[in-house]
Amino acid sequence: MTADAPAAPVFAAIEAGGTKFVCAVATADGTLLERVRFPTRDPAGTLAEARAFFDAAAQRFGAPRALGIASFGPLELDPRAAAYGRLLRTPKPGWHDADLRAPFASLGVPIALDTDVNAAALAEARWGAGRDADGAPLDSLCYVTVGTGIGVGAVIAGEPLHGLLHPEVGHIHPRRHPGDAGFAGVCPHHGDCLEGLANGPALVARLGHDLGDAPDAHPVWDIEADYLGQLCAQLALTLSPRRIVLGGGVMQHHRLFAPIRARTRHWLGGYLAREQVEDGIDGYIVPPGLGDRSGILGALLLAMRAAGDHRPAA
Ligand code: ZN
Repeated sequence: MTADAPAAPVFAAIEAGGTKFVCAVATADGTLLERVRFPTRDPAGTLAEARAFFDAAAQRFGAPRALGIASFGPLELDPRAAAYGRLLRTPKPGWHDADLRAPFASLGVPIALDTDVNAAALAEARWGAGRDADGAPLDSLCYVTVGTGIGVGAVIAGEPLHGLLHPEVGHIHPRRHPGDAGFAGVCPHHGDCLEGLANGPALVARLGHDLGDAPDAHPVWDIEADYLGQLCAQLALTLSPRRIVLGGGVMQHHRLFAPIRARTRHWLGGYLAREQVEDGIDGYIVPPGLGDRSGILGALLLAMRAAGDHRPAA
């Protein structure tokens, strides 16, 4: 940027994942001016690398107005809690109790923090698959990621959902599929919760090989679609989102959408009596509109909210 160019406000964004970090500097219209990604290592080294990126970027783009962090969890999101901004009982080695905000405090800007999936839900609602027929953002949406874990983020009445903690829907217990009775599940906390039965490692454990080598006709896909259909039905029944976005690595490996939609309708049993979850279900359960940018754009929206700039002209 030259000295006489009009400087658009910039925001700093971090998508903190269990395997990779994405850092970006962006403007309020969702333009990523610069983005880097690097492997997630130990907290000190990884967060220092992120900090170095933002220090260098500030030389080129000016100081950011705020920083948004969209992180894997579980996270302490209560600003009144002593552990605010820290990771809780994550199985990720070395990251338990890691303070995500402290390395960035000396930037001197507001810092907003939320789960990666809540942030992705915000981004999909504003810029992605969460727009109604007129192009306006839907006021309620769930974002589900199915990968190494299963996470669910929710935007309800335009706000990311928090409460006692934040939603941890991946750990509900679905009804067992009759063809899956012998599988113990892989969740270290619960065994056969939804994540333990339907995350990527659970599929690999049943197959004995990578997902990419599984034939389309393998019964594991019907089992997977049933569990994810139960999840979508329970989300529709409990949170009443206007749309459900399904992303994550497992959703890339197979044409799961059609059987998941069918099983969602099965488990709902016609009860909600809404066209969106009956003949219109192809538009209710959808892939991400932002591809792999949902998380980092969600972090940008967190930063914009922290700066008080979260309702700019669309
Ligand atoms: Zn679990």
